[in-house]
Order: sequence, then structure tokens, then C-alpha cells
Amino acid sequence: MTQLALVIDLNVCVGCHACVTSCKQWNTSGAAGPLVDDQPYGADPTGTFFNRVQTFEVGEFPNTQTVHFPKSCLHCEDPPCVPVCPTGASYKRKEDGIVLVDYDKCIGCKYCSWACPYGAREIDEERKVMTKCTLCVDRITDTALPAAERKPACVLACPTHARLFGDVHDPESVVSVAIRERGGYALMPEWNTRPANHYLPRRRTELTVHAEDLVRVDNPLKIDGSRPESPQQGLGREDFAT
Ligand code: SF4
Ligand code: SF4
Repeated sequence: MTQLALVIDLNVCVGCHACVTSCKQWNTSGAAGPLVDDQPYGADPTGTFFNRVQTFEVGEFPNTQTVHFPKSCLHCEDPPCVPVCPTGASYKRKEDGIVLVDYDKCIGCKYCSWACPYGAREIDEERKVMTKCTLCVDRITDTALPAAERKPACVLACPTHARLFGDVHDPESVVSVAIRERGGYALMPEWNTRPANHYLPRRRTELTVHAEDLVRVDNPLKIDGSRPESPQQGLGREDFAT
């Protein structure tokens, strides 16, 4: 059986959120451009994200690393979100293993979001239905699109190619090769959900930081402890009058 999935390389993800905004633009019609300064989310912010990037720091200063961790539905092979659904709205497709929600059957009871150990589902407060990553099922099956574009929006948008897409049951697929050769791992295997999505680990770079490297000796304002004289020193407001 085919099992489509994403493989995300944590070593090259730079946390730019291109995957987040392209996902939102394609799937939930949200604004993907820069937010305005004044009340960027309005008085009553709503909206769902199928994909989020969580950024955190590991280690102790000065030997710290910043980790960008994109997370969406992992399309588990044994998804606990499916059997808890009282209406059959939450289901796993036989032909490609994608886990989906049938919005016509969903009653918004949220059982599935409680069952998902990864926090991958978000309720759409406007439509009152549960939502999550669909692997852009409408894109990847659209034969009107050129073959190269039949990929999830996030995969196409990622500037560092951190996101790979393919069939993890095909040993020769790009995702299977990456998992096999680059130490791909699944999230929280102790839950026995068998996530189809995998992550490629960060590769540690050994770096020695010396204390003197942390002092900016080349800062011109610090030379001899004196500040350079301002060329405009002594000028009054009237000097700029036209
Ligand atoms: Fe279900 Fe969560 Fe697994 Fe997605 S990640 S298939 S929502 S249990
Ligand atoms: Fe099923 Fe919708 Fe309830 Fe989730 S919120 S369990 S998909 S009916």
C-alpha cells in the first residue's frame, strides 16, 4: 500500500515560515503577506493553521543552538484520531494513506484532537469543523497541473528544500532513501501511532567559542574608550531650516 508522507530535514530548516504561509494560502485562504503594524490580527483573531513552525533554543549559553521544528499532521499509519470519531468523518485513505476529515460529516466534537498525541488538529471556529494537513490532496491529485507541481504547497515553497515528499513504503523513493541514509526518525514512537512523516536529525557542528571572541574589539565607538565626534555637533534646529 502506498503511504504518502513528508520528510523534514531539521538540519536545513531555517524557520522562515514559507511552508506555513504557503500552506495557509492554499488550504485556508488566509492572508500570507506581511501583517500590518496596527492591530495585525484585528480585535478577534481566528483562523487555522495546518502547519506551524515551533522555534526553540537548546544547550547553554554560549553553546546554544536554535532549532526550527515544523509540525503538521503526521499521517499516522495507525492513527488514534480515526477510531474515536463518532461520525466516521475522520478517515484514512486506502489508496495513499492520507488521513483526512470529511467536513460534511464532521460535527466539531473535537474527540479527534484530544486523541492526537501531536496536537496536529485545529478546529475551524467559523465552519465548526475539524481541520488538519491534507498533504494538499487536491493539488497532488490534480492531473491538470504539470507533474512537477503536483506536490504539497509547503514542499514547493521551501527555499532550502528541507521538505521532501513521497511514498515511504517504496524503498527507492526519495523519502525512503533519505530516512534510510540520513537517520530519519518518527516522533514519539512510544505512542505506537507509526507516523508516516519523518524527521532528519540536525547534525552537530563542533564549535569552540573563546571568551575574547564575544567582545567586539573592532567597534569604532569603543576605540580608546572615546566616542567619535559627531559632525553635526553644535548644530541647532535652525541650521536645518529651509
Ligand atoms: Fe491523526 Fe494526529 Fe496522527 Fe495526524 S498526527 S494522523 S491527526 S493522530
Ligand atoms: Fe470526527 Fe469531526 Fe468529531 Fe473530529 S471533530 S471526531 S473529525 S466529528
